[in-house]
Formats: sequence, structure tokens, C-alpha cells
Amino acid sequence: MDTPVSANLQKLRKFLEGRTGKAIMDYNMIADGDTVLVCCSGGKDSYTLLAMLMALQKRAPVKFRLIAMNLDQKQPGFPADVLPAYFDSIGIEHRIIEADTYSIVKDKIPEGKTTCSLCSRLRRGIIYRTAKELGANKIALGHHRDDMVHTLFLNMLFGGKMKAMPPKLVTDDKAHVVIRPLAYCSESDIAKFARGMAFPIIPCNLCGSQENLQRQKIKEMMQDWDRRYPGRTESVFTAMQNVVPSHLADNTLFDFSGLTLDTPVDEGDIAFDTEPLEFSGAIPISPLA
Ligand code: SF4
Repeated sequence: MDTPVSANLQKLRKFLEGRTGKAIMDYNMIADGDTVLVCCSGGKDSYTLLAMLMALQKRAPVKFRLIAMNLDQKQPGFPADVLPAYFDSIGIEHRIIEADTYSIVKDKIPEGKTTCSLCSRLRRGIIYRTAKELGANKIALGHHRDDMVHTLFLNMLFGGKMKAMPPKLVTDDKAHVVIRPLAYCSESDIAKFARGMAFPIIPCNLCGSQENLQRQKIKEMMQDWDRRYPGRTESVFTAMQNVVPSHLADNTLFDFSGLTLDTPVDEGDIAFDTEPLEFSGAIPISPLA
């Protein structure tokens, strides 16, 4: 008989599979005949992503191929044997790419400055090249709902743009579609799942660089809000799916200049309503909350 812990884990797995499947369906992320390159860093998110995609592959109505990929960036102390051993243990086709981006980044970026943006650019180029070599038309990344919400705030507060991280995008060279199947999964559920599964996590600070400080601040802010008013991150994510251009201020999305008495406007004039806003989005509640 299952212990309560494994029953909970099973429940969480089913929940996350359901959320992942729904995101894949809603955004038409994977089609019959696709080859999906799954980017695995050794962190909780990408282990979870791979587990979800492998589970869904077994019962999906379409046939697709999965290739797990890890980029060994030659950071000091990177345990190069962990991911190949893990991939072998779960029987997934995989490719390990070795590229010393660590030295390039250290060489180009002055000491004390954050190295993440150059590092990410180099990594992106290598991932795209690998996808091309392997004939993968889709590239799956492990970003989750919280990453997407944090990016929205980051862009609004520091970049003056209402822009987040999309669940699906086409690469600049038009060669691949990048997908984020964990778009509907919360970071806390992923963290619980990763702990329960005892994934062999590779720490993400081997390079000695700090996570973008502004992103860290946004994350703390959202965590604080969520503690005080649970459900805020879900609410912001739902808002990203319910955009009302006529109630923002972007002239390119809504023709404010040409607005006349006859222009149909979504949601009408609620600018002066005094009653409190009622949240109407469907918030998925974690089964272990
Ligand atoms: S933390 Fe290190 S490995 Fe990660 S993106 Fe930044 S520089 Fe690259």
C-alpha cells in the first residue's frame, strides 16, 4: 500500500500533468510528428518539464519525439556525469553539448558585473544550433507561471513595457518554435514535486554569478503579496490571458484617436465604479495547498 507521502506525490504529479497538458492544448504547443528538444539544466524546473513531457507522450493522441539536451558550460565544479546518468536511468534519448561559455563570459565581462545576459545569449545560440542539427522543430523550456508573471513585472517596473514571457514564440531566424509547457504550473508545486521525486539537482550558482537583482526583488515582492493575499500570482497570470486594450493606453492596440460614440468598447465604462473588483478568473488550486 502507498504511504501518504507517495499518495500525495502521485496526486501532485497528476495535477501537474493536467496543467501541463492543458497548456499544451490551449496554445497548440505540440503537433503530430514534432521533434521536441527539451532543455535540461539540472534544476527542478527542467527535471519536472521532462517528467511531464515523457508522461504525456505516452498517452497523447499525437506522436512526437523527445530529445533531452544539456549544455555543459564548463563551470567549475559542474558534475558532468549527473545528467547523462539520469537520462540513461529514465531511458530518454539525449544529447550533451560541451561548450566553454564560462570562460568566454569571464573573459568578456568585468569582475563584479552580472554575467547572465551574455551567458544566456551564448546558451541560446548553442541551443538553436543543436536543435537544427538534431532536426528538432520545437524547443521546450522549463519556465513556469511564476517566471512569466515576474517577467511581466520586471518589464513594467524597469522596462516601461507591458510584456511578459510568452507560452510559445517563434525564434528570430524563424527556424524553431519555443514552447513553455509549464506555463500553468506554479513554482511551489514544481518545487514540491522535485523534492518528492528526489531529482539529482545541480545547483544553479556554480558560475558564482548572482541571479538578476531586480528579478530577485520582484520575486520577493510577489512572494510577500502571495503570503498576505494568497492567489495574487495566479490572478496576475489570469490577467495576462484577459487583456482589454480599450482600457489600457496603447494607441497601437486600440484606436483611441478614432474613438466615437459608435465604437464598440469591451466592458464599457467602468472607470468610475466604486464597488470592489471581484476576481472572476478560474484559479487552479494546488492539490496539496
Ligand atoms: S547564473 Fe551563471 S550560468 Fe546561470 S545564466 Fe547567469 S552566468 Fe549563466
